[in-house]
Amino acid sequence: MDQRMMEIAESVERILEALPPGVTLVAAAKGRNPAEVEAALQAGIAHIGHNYVQEAQKMIQFLGRKATWHLIGHLQQNKVRRAVQLFDVIETVDSWPLSVAIDRHCAAAGKVMSVLVEINSGREANKTGVMPEEVDDLVQRLSDLKHIRVQGLMTMGPRFGDPEEARPFFQATRAAFERLSVVDLPNVTMRTLSMGMSNSYLIAIEEGANLVRIGTGLFGGRPN
Ligand SMILES: *Cc1c(COP(=O)(O)O)cnc(C)c1O
Repeated sequence: MDQRMMEIAESVERILEALPPGVTLVAAAKGRNPAEVEAALQAGIAHIGHNYVQEAQKMIQFLGRKATWHLIGHLQQNKVRRAVQLFDVIETVDSWPLSVAIDRHCAAAGKVMSVLVEINSGREANKTGVMPEEVDDLVQRLSDLKHIRVQGLMTMGPRFGDPEEARPFFQATRAAFERLSVVDLPNVTMRTLSMGMSNSYLIAIEEGANLVRIGTGLFGGRPN
């Protein structure tokens, strides 16, 4: 194993060890090559996140399905069929039409998809996700779809140099999560709160995240 793969393995082990019990680590694999992801798997990663359907497909063909695959990037309608075949969890559900498409393709494939609803907690014009005030409505409607199980919420939140500044956005997402946790809806169980990346995951965990998505912190800086 070369130096680079050893560094990845060390980062994975160090972060896995430091995470509190009950927090799931998703390795964010965009822009990485299969050998890098393989090194992370061998070091104990069980969940891989990818932003892009086509690249994830190549990676899965290369590595096999020996992990739980999360779609963490925005999903376009024309990629839904393939995404449904490839992923175990879609973390970026943010509209009713997209949800209907996922449900329809899952029905055809005989599959039930675990999904998270993505919230645009910073209300940023250039980000995807539902606006915070729309999340309850969307979750309510999703409970009618038989091939989707809503398992929680996801947010990116604005990126700051100082991750302390992300805290209020994590808190707002947590509040929505708590609110929806006590609503009794079919096909909805609020169990996963996905927030926090390399520079913000410790704060996200303090604010209730039980799934963190880390790329740079495991694999190093991205080349592009
Ligand atoms: C890239 C990415 C991450 C990981 O970001 P890092 O800063 O590299 O840890 C997490 N979540 C999503 C949705 C991403 O696109």
